[in-house]
Amino acid sequence: MGTSPIGFGGRAGIDCRHRHFASKAEVHAMADGRFEVELQVRCDDCGMLFAFQGPPRGLEVNGVRASSGGLSVRLAIAPSGQVS
Ligand SMILES: [Zn+2]
Repeated sequence: MGTSPIGFGGRAGIDCRHRHFASKAEVHAMADGRFEVELQVRCDDCGMLFAFQGPPRGLEVNGVRASSGGLSVRLAIAPSGQVS
């Protein structure tokens, strides 16, 4: 995973072709015993966040939901021994 600092000067935004990426995955243990993984993707060159195109925003459907701006997505996960 890329760890270079996000730069918002010079190459940021429209001039960037977005060819290098960094991603972040955070796992959350929910109070009700479920687990979720939250994903974010950004351009490692200019720092622009990518919006997830598929999941409905703010709504949970089949264990998948995107944040209100679509910039992160949460997926329901479970320990492999508990998957039916
Ligand atoms: Zn970029």
